[in-house]
Amino acid sequence: MPEAVAVLEVEDVVRHYGPPRRPVRAVDGISLTIRPGETVALVGESGCGKSTLARVILRLEPPTHGRIRLDGEDITELSGAALRDRRRLAQMVFQDPYASLDPRMTVEAIVREPLDNYRVGAPEERRICVAALLRRVGLVEEFAERFPHELSGGQRQRVGIARALALQPKIIIADEPVSALDVSIRAQVINLLMDIQRELGVAMLFVSHDIGVVAHLSHRICVMYLGRMMETGPTETIIRRPQHPYTRALLDAIPVSHPSLRRPRRLLEGTPPSPSNPPQGCRFHPRCGFAQACCRSAMPELRSLGGGTSVACHLAPLADASSTQGDHVQ
Ligand code: SF4
Repeated sequence: MPEAVAVLEVEDVVRHYGPPRRPVRAVDGISLTIRPGETVALVGESGCGKSTLARVILRLEPPTHGRIRLDGEDITELSGAALRDRRRLAQMVFQDPYASLDPRMTVEAIVREPLDNYRVGAPEERRICVAALLRRVGLVEEFAERFPHELSGGQRQRVGIARALALQPKIIIADEPVSALDVSIRAQVINLLMDIQRELGVAMLFVSHDIGVVAHLSHRICVMYLGRMMETGPTETIIRRPQHPYTRALLDAIPVSHPSLRRPRRLLEGTPPSPSNPPQGCRFHPRCGFAQACCRSAMPELRSLGGGTSVACHLAPLADASSTQGDHVQ
């Protein structure tokens, strides 16, 4: 059987800011593919370029280089009505539900707005559709007449998810969708996204700084550092046998809930260097406990290690890659 067309193909995408002679290299040659119904997590510390990449994928800002294909069509050069028409296939759930909803609009108007913009159905059909969307995200119909300030953070994010679903997109791009929420309600929103993903078969790019969160919901993980892809592979493999020192450090930063799971950890020290002046060679070398002379001079390319895993590290596969890595992810 022929393989299904990828929902999203990102090919060697670069996004630089500032003067070409000394640009800020926010995204520096990222490729990834997402297939129908697949959830891919994009993970890395704040400032690694993952949110910029999400915005470039949606063409909210232009790539400096590279190609973006959405449902098989190249959207890199599209503009105006053609871009607008294609963009309905990819919808975003934003990080901050406080800032992303218009405070002057009712919940019904917020969720209905994409249907109005794209003139989907008659007005009465749109009202019925909004009611169904609100029910789908766990909000009773009475919420339709409320304003964002009358809702909790979790309820606002549910409204943001309902709005993202309104146009029946093929892919949802969720940019840190739970990081602004109370810890107590994060699991509810994550479970809702997972239920929707399973039920509707919509693909998802889940952007997060927390590899512990995405371990539960993604099929594959892509780890970014300073604008570059460091490691990518099936979630189970990345969590159990991480091959890049940076991935290991992210996993080691997850709090351990039980004393029996404690083991030696290599925690990340310092902050990433500036993307306007990235280190020569491997961008992770100033913070890497495994670094050798070659790491300071030559940038490692992303290499396949088989099993769908690729790693950008001169030393991969690491000799002591342990099957106990990630045991604390529950
Ligand atoms: Fe560390 Fe060298 Fe691998 Fe970079 S290439 S992650 S510095 S061991």
